[in-house]
Amino acid sequence: MTVIMPSQPTAEQQLAFLAKMQRLFSEGDFTATYKFALVIALSDLAVEQGRDSDVTLRFSYTDLAQKFIDLYWNHTVPYARATAGTSSMVLIQNLGQQAAVVTAICQFRETTKISSRSLVQRHHAYPKLLRKVADTVSTQPATYLQNLGGSFDPFLFTRIQGGLELKPGVGHCLRQFQPLIQQLARQRWIQHIKSNRRNAPAIGSDDELETFLFAASRQSLDVVRKGLSKVASGRCFYCGSAVGDKAEVDHFVPFSIYPRDLMHNFVYAHGDCNRRKSDTLAAKEHLERWLEFGEKECGSLMEIGVLAGIPADRNASRSVSGWAYQAAFRAEAQAWIRKREYEKVGADYLIMF
Ligand SMILES: [Zn+2]
Repeated sequence: MTVIMPSQPTAEQQLAFLAKMQRLFSEGDFTATYKFALVIALSDLAVEQGRDSDVTLRFSYTDLAQKFIDLYWNHTVPYARATAGTSSMVLIQNLGQQAAVVTAICQFRETTKISSRSLVQRHHAYPKLLRKVADTVSTQPATYLQNLGGSFDPFLFTRIQGGLELKPGVGHCLRQFQPLIQQLARQRWIQHIKSNRRNAPAIGSDDELETFLFAASRQSLDVVRKGLSKVASGRCFYCGSAVGDKAEVDHFVPFSIYPRDLMHNFVYAHGDCNRRKSDTLAAKEHLERWLEFGEKECGSLMEIGVLAGIPADRNASRSVSGWAYQAAFRAEAQAWIRKREYEKVGADYLIMF
């Protein structure tokens, strides 16, 4: 008897997949929680429908919509904390108006009076709900999930008539790393809901918790801001325009990539540049300037760090940025130049370290 071994992605391909997943969570633009749901749905379906063979996996929008309804069903119960003085509400899952999937499920619950998930699929109104959710999945997360750091990188799937087709090897990777992917997606999903201010009446201001536990205090950041504005002569680090003393403190290597405050990693930037750069690494021209800046202003940065009580170690900051750009290069990440312009992190970045 001959045993045919399915061809599996190589160890390198699997690592590349993980690097891209990591990028998806750190650089993806998440205005709604749909993308987390789609990642979870894909890995669930890969486990449920896939085999470790060469067969290409295709999921219809209806398959995905079913998973979405499953995932969001419990979310449509008003949330209430045990603490007195907090109100109960259906949590908002979008930065704009409530996510359409949540609204559709709420309406379904309202009209059918069904509260048990197991009865949902038997109701005659279910196909209509399913179509509505499938439409949203198709026009929202399936369209935008693979937008990373300002560019479209379809590493997971291509869109086909009525659904998605996974890229070769992706089904295998989704099954292999399903627990890790689920955990990442759930954690980011929770963060998204917590950091939406409109959910504060129900969950309190828990968004302060991470800052409290892991980030520099506002007070010490204010000391940093004043110090940096002098060192930078009141100019924005990225665009060079004069911003006076009103600008912001930016983490050169984004906090989402390396969540520690290091004095040499701070630059003075105006709000607009800071927000546009967001969670992306800065492009080569900025990196060059940043390395020079750290060397030239090392003494002043040390002084500010001591005043603000923030660790100041130029070598540590260099190592951290070297590590971050290495990872970005491996994941074929984009780096931010200005406004909406990006470029790919190339090998020429790494020579600078
Ligand atoms: Zn600027």
